[in-house]
Amino acid sequence: MVPESFSYWQRTSPLFSLSTDLPNVSDVAIIGGGLSGAATCYWLARAGVRAVLLERRALADGATGRNGGFVRAGTAGPYPEAMARLGPQTARAVMDITYENRALLRQVLQEEEISCDYREPGALQLALTEDQSKEQRQEVDLLQAEGFSAQWLERAQVQAMINTPLASEILGGCFLPEQGLLHSARLVQGLVHAALRHGATAYQAEASEIGRDGANVRLRTSQGNMVASKVIVAINAWTSTLLPELTPVIVPVLEQMQAYEAIDPIFSMALSVHMNTGEYMQQTPSGTLLIGGYGSVAPNAGGSRKACQHPRYKRLSRQ
Ligand SMILES: Cc1cc2nc3c(=O)[nH]c(=O)nc-3n(C[C@H](O)[C@H](O)[C@H](O)COP(=O)(O)OP(=O)(O)OC[C@H]3O[C@@H](n4cnc5c(N)ncnc54)[C@H](O)[C@@H]3O)c2cc1C
Repeated sequence: MVPESFSYWQRTSPLFSLSTDLPNVSDVAIIGGGLSGAATCYWLARAGVRAVLLERRALADGATGRNGGFVRAGTAGPYPEAMARLGPQTARAVMDITYENRALLRQVLQEEEISCDYREPGALQLALTEDQSKEQRQEVDLLQAEGFSAQWLERAQVQAMINTPLASEILGGCFLPEQGLLHSARLVQGLVHAALRHGATAYQAEASEIGRDGANVRLRTSQGNMVASKVIVAINAWTSTLLPELTPVIVPVLEQMQAYEAIDPIFSMALSVHMNTGEYMQQTPSGTLLIGGYGSVAPNAGGSRKACQHPRYKRLSRQ
């Protein structure tokens, strides 16, 4: 039976059973079965390392199972901002790494025959105000000058790409061709299947303590103790449960992705807009509308859930 807590991505993936028969020795133990743990396990196994993956509940049970599925090559914020903050050389290096990462993703999906709805329909960021239009045009100019594909689209061009009447406040948008979308949990499952084929093993086990054991690392888990030469902690928001010394530098951020019932195709690209804190959407090949964003400091760190209670995206369409 599918657990109640499973996310949309998990529910729409095949069931993936993890053994609980944990060995007590390993070369490298990777804790966390999200994208970071799965990818690390895959690359280690591919390099011939005996890697053991530990996941406390199910693969993609954290942020990986609840994200927007955007595969974005580029800096996290607008490129001009990254250039100002990091300097032109570092910003360019970040861009290059993300493009290399995308090339590697394409290669691995093909080599390992991972089926995760990967496609490259491009990404469109809508502009709702004159300021946003100006910023996006500047970004397009800068990206083009640096040799990257980017295009400013007027409102009519945006409307031609979206199969619903747009609200009048949409002025245009910045289109980045080649940007991708995928099914996040199926990607993780595919990576773990591939890692297993390359000799890794994966278990359902919750790590509760990490300590030294001579030159090795000792792990206490829900399925017994394990000694490993090295341990990689890939548990994202739960990091401070195993490494409390990192608590002061971790700021929990609440971000949500909501899945709506399947509808006829409206748009195919990765769509984003800044209405609140930055919202983004994808329509999956089966028609489901996924809407994410509403980022704020998490309730357990003093923030509130308020932002996510307002589905402001409705204002984007006249219907
Ligand atoms: C709403 C939202 C939307 C996002 N959208 C995008 C997007 O469109 N594109 C993008 O690139 N990124 C996006 N992100 C960010 C991206 O999802 C994360 O950066 C990424 O999934 C982090 O992967 P991870 O493996 O580090 O962590 P997680 O996916 O959180 O995985 C951590 C895993 O560790 C396990 N775990 C925890 N404690 C233990 C323990 N003690 N023992 C064993 N296992 C344990 C958990 O069960 C979990 O499976 C989004 C994030 C959110 C929240």
